[in-house]
Amino acid sequence: MGQVYAYLGHNDGTLDDSAMELINAAKAISDAPATAIVTGSGIDAVADAAAAIFPEVIKIDNDALAYPNAEVVRKALVNNLPADAIVLFAHSTFSMDCAPGLSIKLGGAFVSDIVGIDAVEGDTLKVVRQEFGGEVSTHVDVDMSAGAVVAVRPGIFAPDETKAAGGNVTAADAGDVAVNRTFIEIVEPEAGDVDITKADVLISIGRGIEDEDNLEIATDLKEALGKAAEVSCSRPIVDAKWLEGSRQVGTSGCTVKPKVYLACGISGSFQHMGGIKGGVVVAINKNENAPIFQVADYGIVEDILDFLPELTEKIEEL
Ligand SMILES: Cc1cc2nc3c(=O)[nH]c(=O)nc-3n(C[C@H](O)[C@H](O)[C@H](O)COP(=O)(O)OP(=O)(O)OC[C@H]3O[C@@H](n4cnc5c(N)ncnc54)[C@H](O)[C@@H]3O)c2cc1C
Repeated sequence: MGQVYAYLGHNDGTLDDSAMELINAAKAISDAPATAIVTGSGIDAVADAAAAIFPEVIKIDNDALAYPNAEVVRKALVNNLPADAIVLFAHSTFSMDCAPGLSIKLGGAFVSDIVGIDAVEGDTLKVVRQEFGGEVSTHVDVDMSAGAVVAVRPGIFAPDETKAAGGNVTAADAGDVAVNRTFIEIVEPEAGDVDITKADVLISIGRGIEDEDNLEIATDLKEALGKAAEVSCSRPIVDAKWLEGSRQVGTSGCTVKPKVYLACGISGSFQHMGGIKGGVVVAINKNENAPIFQVADYGIVEDILDFLPELTEKIEEL
């Protein structure tokens, strides 16, 4: 089996949280220590942060890599990685863009959005994926004999927060990274009226709320809980224009880390769950087979239209 590498994302000089998860994903694949790779421009601090987690870090610092244009990054990786490399990414829009083509260039297997590693048997990596919006799990054998590119769903592996690796940083040359795709600009989303990322308690509303008028049962609960609480939602609620986009949790919305996440009438799609990075998840859903019950810390099989007003009443009594 080839060397395991973990490609680490970063933003504004800060490593993505997924870096601490990828080290544990790498340990599940090989006993040999994994090597981290960071690309970008002016990334000394990011490389040092990576070295606190990984024993070896390859830093590819080049102006052409200032924005993570997947085509440019892929070229830099191909120029630096051995053909039999096992390369881990955190599953994201970026990895969807970069990783499949990388596996083709390196000539190895590709598997995306894995939610578990069952075992490694020789050169075979046995992974779990989810299909049909998380309704079914599939078990997939990945032949790593010629290398592999594996995208790991964020939040699946526990983060290694010890940050005590004391690793080495080695600078590498990007090589020829001329490509046809040009990065133009980042368009920041408009600031919303609330910042759900700061709330301790999120009352998150999904399609199970059924009607815009029913949203008041969520705002009533928020009032009862006080300042620490805020109302967030899944994407269908934003699509229906019942709440503003700044309240959406998920891969195309906000990433949140509240102390308590109350998922009310939310099925648990990976696009939604991908936005929850911590805290106790309490799912309230009237369908006992809803996929969210597989990932929630506590599950309550109830109709939210009855349950939330009762909860509000109890909290007010207290
Ligand atoms: C590229 C892409 C990006 C996406 N990004 C996001 C994202 O950032 N965030 C996001 O949320 N989604 C996102 N989605 C959409 C995602 O795939 C799901 O469609 C969405 O999360 C489903 O929202 P939901 O759980 O509210 O609705 P549903 O999947 O319809 O689930 C509703 C749930 O409510 C339950 N329910 C119904 N009535 C009641 C009741 N009275 N009481 C209790 N339970 C009830 C049902 O049993 C069901 O489980 C994205 C999709 C794509 C393709």
